[in-house]
Amino acid sequence: MSGTASRAFRLRSSSHRIKDERVAEILPVWQAGLGRMQAEVARLIFTTGELPKWVDAKGWDGGLSQRQWDSVRAQSIAQHKSWLGNCERVFRRTVAASAITGQVRKDLFYVNKSRAWYLPVEGDGVAITSKRSIPAETMRLARRIMKHVRTRVGRPDMRRLRTMVMDGKVAKVETPNGHHGDYWVRIATLIAGKPVVIPLHAHRAFLDRLAQPGAKLANHCQVHVNTDGTVDYRLVIHTPKNPARTGGREVGIDWGMSTLFATSDGHLHGRGFLDRLRAYDARLQPLMAALQRNGIKLRDSRRYRALVQDVRGFITNEVNRCLNRIIADDSIDTLVIEKLNFQGMAREGRLSKRMRRLLSNTGRGAVNTKLASLAEDQGVATVEVNPAHTSRECTGCGYTSKTNRTTQTKFRCGFCGKTVHADIGGARTVLGRSQNSRHWTDRNRGQILTMLDEEFRSRWGLGFADVDQRRNTRGSRVAPTSATPATQANAFPRSA
Ligand SMILES: [Zn+2]
Repeated sequence: MSGTASRAFRLRSSSHRIKDERVAEILPVWQAGLGRMQAEVARLIFTTGELPKWVDAKGWDGGLSQRQWDSVRAQSIAQHKSWLGNCERVFRRTVAASAITGQVRKDLFYVNKSRAWYLPVEGDGVAITSKRSIPAETMRLARRIMKHVRTRVGRPDMRRLRTMVMDGKVAKVETPNGHHGDYWVRIATLIAGKPVVIPLHAHRAFLDRLAQPGAKLANHCQVHVNTDGTVDYRLVIHTPKNPARTGGREVGIDWGMSTLFATSDGHLHGRGFLDRLRAYDARLQPLMAALQRNGIKLRDSRRYRALVQDVRGFITNEVNRCLNRIIADDSIDTLVIEKLNFQGMAREGRLSKRMRRLLSNTGRGAVNTKLASLAEDQGVATVEVNPAHTSRECTGCGYTSKTNRTTQTKFRCGFCGKTVHADIGGARTVLGRSQNSRHWTDRNRGQILTMLDEEFRSRWGLGFADVDQRRNTRGSRVAPTSATPATQANAFPRSA
C-alpha cells in the first residue's frame, strides 16, 4: 500500500448566520450543476467506454462560474469513479458465482479488471491492450452482466447530495495572522466578486493529524448544508500512507455482544460492552415513551439527541479502543475478521429496537472506518472470511455442531471433548479459515456446513450416519469411537 491517504475533519466555524445563508444559497444551483454534469459523465462512460478526465462545461452557465463548474466536474468524476469500483466488485462476484468456465470466464475477469465493459466493439473484437483482445461475443456478455450489476449498484442521484466539494479556486484556505480563527476559507458565492470569509477553528484530532510527518493541508473545502440550513465546513489533510506491515502474523477476531472482540491469541476486549448498552437502553426507553406521550418528536428533543450522541460516541470509542489494543502488538500485520453482522449480534443482546438500530448503523460505520484507517496509517491489512458456523466448528477435530456450544461463553466439542472459551474458539476458527484458504465468502451457510462435514468425515474416516447421529444426540457428549480418541484429535489442531 502506498500513495496518499486523505481525511476530512469538520472544524467549528464562527461565521455569522448571514454568511452561512449566502453559502447555503449555492446548494440548489450546485445540485442542478451536479445533475447536469452527472448526465454528461454517464453519457461519456457508456459511449466511449471510459471515465472521462475532463468534461467541457464552457458556456453551460446555469448560475455557476467556470471555476465553480471545475469543482462540480471534479466532484462528479470522483463520485463515478467510486461507483465504477462498486460495479467492479459486484461484477467479479457475479462471474465467480456463475457457471461460466474456461477462456470466457478469464476474459470476463480481465474486462472487469480493466473496467472495459463499455469499450466500443468494432469488427470481431476489442483490443484492450496491444497484447490482449477480447472477442465481440464476450464483450456482449460482459454488457449483459453489467446490465444486471447496474440494477444492484444504483448510481447515486447527485442532485440530492448536500455536500459541495469545493477546490481551492472557489474555496481558498488561508492562515490568517489575526485571532478570528485558525483558518479562513474564502468561498465564492453566486455573486461574482462577493466571496464570504468563514473563520474555522482547529481541534486536537485535526492538529495531531497535521503534525504527522509528510502531512499536508489540502487547498479545498467540503461544504455540507444541513437540512436546517446550518452549514458544516470540512478541511482535508493528505498524509503519505505507511508501507504495509510485512513479515508479521495474522490474528483472528470474533465479534460478539458480551465481549466485543475476542482474538485467536486468547484475549478478550470490550467485556463490559453489552452492560453499558443496556444501561443506555434503560435511559433511552423511558425518555422515548415520555416524549411520545407528550406528542414531542424525537428529533425535537435536545435530551434525546444528546443521549443518542452519547451512545454513538461510546460505540465508536469502544471499537477504536479495542482495535488499537489488538494491533498494539506490532508482530501482527493482518486482521482476519468475519463478515460483519451487527444486526444478528444486536438480536442476541436483548436490546430495544431503537438501540439495535443504533448499534448496527454506528457499529458497522465505526469498524469500517477504523479498519480503513489501520490500513492507511499502520499498514495493517484485513482479510474477510465467511462467518457461517464459526461458533460451532471445533478447531481441534473439525466437528461442527450446534451442541458444541454449551452456553453463551462455553464451547465443548461433542466429538473430541476439547473445551475453550466460545468467543476465543470462534476467533481461532476464523483465523484457521484464512490460513487454510477457506474464506468461502461466496458460499451460503448450507454449502459451508456440507464442506465442513465432508472434511470432518474424510479426516476421521466416518460415514454420513455417524455425523448425523452425533449431531442429533443433544445434551450429553458423544463418546469418541476407538478410531478417534480424544488425544489423537487434540494432537492435530487445525490451525497448526
Ligand atoms: Zn473437536
